[in-house]
Amino acid sequence: MTKDNAAISDVLIIGGGAAGLSAAQMLGRCRRSVTVVDSDQPRNAPAKGVHGFLSRDGVKPGELLAIGRAEAEQYGVTILRGEVRAAGGDLQQGFEVRLDDGTRLRGRRLLVATGLVDELPAIPGLRERWGKDVLHCPFCHGWEVRDQVIGILGNGAWSVHQALLFRQWSSNVTLFLNNRTVPSQAEAEQLSARGIRVVKGHVESLRVEQDNLRGVALAGGPEFAVDAVVVGPEAHVRLDAFFCPGPDSLCPSHGRGNLP
Ligand SMILES: Cc1cc2nc3c(=O)[nH]c(=O)nc-3n(C[C@H](O)[C@H](O)[C@H](O)COP(=O)(O)OP(=O)(O)OC[C@H]3O[C@@H](n4cnc5c(N)ncnc54)[C@H](O)[C@@H]3O)c2cc1C
Repeated sequence: MTKDNAAISDVLIIGGGAAGLSAAQMLGRCRRSVTVVDSDQPRNAPAKGVHGFLSRDGVKPGELLAIGRAEAEQYGVTILRGEVRAAGGDLQQGFEVRLDDGTRLRGRRLLVATGLVDELPAIPGLRERWGKDVLHCPFCHGWEVRDQVIGILGNGAWSVHQALLFRQWSSNVTLFLNNRTVPSQAEAEQLSARGIRVVKGHVESLRVEQDNLRGVALAGGPEFAVDAVVVGPEAHVRLDAFFCPGPDSLCPSHGRGNLP
């Protein structure tokens, strides 16, 4: 059954992560009527704590968002749990979204804060350890793995940069080229100057024991003991629920969205 919410908000926000809630809080303070729709899958959900956020260092991701929701609600913001499946409209007519349960909501403006999806290499064990001891950001989690044995999983040109960065947190860093990363001559010299070991070959799997990462196994080759693996994921904007490149999409060049 379709549920129509006749009231029109000044701003509809898709996504109630850090970005959507920050916008909601400020818009609420600006005395705008705001509705946030959130499917509760923030990018950092697997992480134990959020770091580098002054005054809340180490807070659990879910706790941070609960505080953010309460702050926004103080200013009259409405926050709904649900997934937007279709969206459309324009500045003249306003915007409308349809949720997974059929609810339709309207807004004079639409703010899309749906975040990113991290695409990880298809290596057994990697996804399960993501945000725990498979990491990407030294500023978020470098301190937690300081002085540990860190393996950088080659996944393109970015991996050399990650290896050089993580060397700040540990003197035991190995770059596994994984047939995906080819350091230039200058990069090879930088890696060598910082004592970063470079290992050729294809990474086949990760070894996990008792909920701890233990090793990186090469195809047909040796296994290397590690405490943590660093990988640069391919990050994609999370719009596929209601954005497809074509005349029915909400993309800037097509305009109207995919609402029937
Ligand atoms: C493992 C990991 C650890 C990290 N650690 C840190 C850290 O320690 N410190 C730090 O500063 N940063 C950290 N980051 C980065 C941080 O997670 C992001 O910067 C932050 O989450 C971005 O916020 P956002 O609101 O843009 O997106 P998100 O947090 O991903 O929130 C987007 C929200 O939109 C919702 N959504 C998406 N599509 C729809 C839809 N169609 N309908 C309704 N809702 C939808 C999602 O469910 C989600 O709740 C980390 C990232 C990762 C991956």
